[in-house]
Amino acid sequence: MDLLNTLVDKGLRRELPTRDEALAVLATSDDDLLDVVAAAGKVRRHWFGRRVKLNYLVNLKSGLCPEDCSYCSQRLGSTADILTYTWLKPEEAAQAAAAGLAGGAKRVCLVASGRGPTDRDVDRVSRTIKAIKEAHEDAEVCACLGLLSEGQAERLRAAGADAYNHNLNTSEATYGDITTTHTYADRVDTVRKAHAAGLSACSGLIAGMGESDEDLVDVVFALRALDPDSVPVNFLIPFEGTPLAKEWNLTPQHCLRILAMVRFVCPDVEVRIAGGREVHLRSLQPLALHLANSIFLGDYLTSEGQAGKADLEMIADAGFEVEGAGEATLPEHRVCGGRPEDGACGSGTGAPCAASASSATSPAAGGPRPDLVAVRRRGAGTDLAPNA
Ligand code: SF4
Repeated sequence: MDLLNTLVDKGLRRELPTRDEALAVLATSDDDLLDVVAAAGKVRRHWFGRRVKLNYLVNLKSGLCPEDCSYCSQRLGSTADILTYTWLKPEEAAQAAAAGLAGGAKRVCLVASGRGPTDRDVDRVSRTIKAIKEAHEDAEVCACLGLLSEGQAERLRAAGADAYNHNLNTSEATYGDITTTHTYADRVDTVRKAHAAGLSACSGLIAGMGESDEDLVDVVFALRALDPDSVPVNFLIPFEGTPLAKEWNLTPQHCLRILAMVRFVCPDVEVRIAGGREVHLRSLQPLALHLANSIFLGDYLTSEGQAGKADLEMIADAGFEVEGAGEATLPEHRVCGGRPEDGACGSGTGAPCAASASSATSPAAGGPRPDLVAVRRRGAGTDLAPNA
């Protein structure tokens, strides 16, 4: 297929595809699915070999958020039956992190619900980061605490944080439909603050919220313009008790097309399969490893993932290898802080393009599968052993 040959060539050169090319990937048929995976897999292997980076989530503070993000089980007014607890003590969080690192994770993601941290919260997370780094010198630590105020990114960096996550989640045009208590611009501002403070920026999206293919392409092009080092791709977990509980829009095949599109648009960036991997990719998870080079090990913030042992077996069975602590995740040109040449990731047009003539395609949904959503009952904030 000419489209795929063109996209492979561009991916190997870090050249930005056109919007129409990105949309065309999402519009491919199931008959072409393995060709799409094979093509995006060439780009993935060129930049990341067969390595899979494992990340481990520690939910520092769960639930009771004043914000109203429709997709989130921790939102204002959520009646999802999730664990709710206030800040873990630094030693408790470090203990939870240690379980993930012992299981093979290279990065620990410290996440707290809320609009954004107070300066006291930043102090508390700084102590947590120090406790983790004292015990695990090589561990990468990413903080995800919401919208940052002036100076907070610098303080987290000084405390030893390596990265900061704040997702754009969806297109600028649809952001107001998903959340009303903060704006898309607020989110962009926090990613820029993290970048400016020398933190590795991590920012991604959520697919399956009822958005169009154009929206998905918009948010991925906006991410490329922001130039994060890692892009988590979440597939909506439609929690009962949240406004999006009925949004079962994804098929495993369409999840693969979305991951392939993200890989073609951000070829040399750590693409991470995030929440919803097991719920939506289901038995096609191993194929997704040909597209993404990073996953979360074990459980998510408020839901349970498959057993950590099953994650490791899946990686080995699919012919991939877990990335070691001493191995660089990113290609050299990104590690060195070099800016890609014109057209490369992060040096795109900046603003999302005007609406495309391509029509949106709605994947045929496989039907609701609430039986696959298991609320987290173990690990951080409980007396039970974590899944790692
Ligand atoms: S995504 Fe974050 S800010 Fe939004 S409701 Fe959930 S915890 Fe709160």
